[in-house]
Amino acid sequence: MELKVIPVTAFAQNCSLIICKQTNQAAFVDPGGEPEKLKQLLKEKQVTLEKILLTHAHIDHVGAAKVLAEEFEVPIEGPHRDDQFWLDMLPQQAAMFQFDKVEAFHPKRWLVEGDTVKVGALSLAVYHCPGHTPGHVVFYQEAHQIVWVGDVLFQGSIGRTDFPMGDHQQLIDSIQKKLWPLGDSVTFIPGHGPTSTIGHEREHNPFVADKSLKQ
Ligand SMILES: [Zn+2]
Ligand SMILES: [Zn+2]
Repeated sequence: MELKVIPVTAFAQNCSLIICKQTNQAAFVDPGGEPEKLKQLLKEKQVTLEKILLTHAHIDHVGAAKVLAEEFEVPIEGPHRDDQFWLDMLPQQAAMFQFDKVEAFHPKRWLVEGDTVKVGALSLAVYHCPGHTPGHVVFYQEAHQIVWVGDVLFQGSIGRTDFPMGDHQQLIDSIQKKLWPLGDSVTFIPGHGPTSTIGHEREHNPFVADKSLKQ
């Protein structure tokens, strides 16, 4: 596996390109915008785009998904169906956050807890982690011990829950019950900001460190 993380949009959203070295197939996780930059990366790496994976339906994570899916004729997989209302609201999200116009779309495949998605020969396990949005999912690649967590968890912080259908306690439960059991040595790629490990956040994250959540 090869991994390239490139920040896109005014929100510096971490779009990942996951490459299966065995098959030279690749997937974007959360192509939030700047499709030209993302297409350039595909050219540089000389890989075949196989699909687009989405953690959740906020515009800075999905803004370039439809244009890329149409141009490369690849499917969009994810998020969970409970984020459908956010996808339906994409034109309004674009106006609100001053993005270029984006059309609403639905993925080829909605994901649920326990699903597996493939990138070439690589398998990623899907966990449903609601709280930031109701349909938020994360993608875990066990062999490489990497999890893409979108806006669930950040280095030193957690996702906002003040949007419609956000739920703070649900987010904490998602982090404790779905992410922590993956193990301290697992690296996570957040939707914004630097990469970290599960163990580092359990020790130091002011919102969800073990010592902050006790009592
Ligand atoms: Zn978000
Ligand atoms: Zn975000």
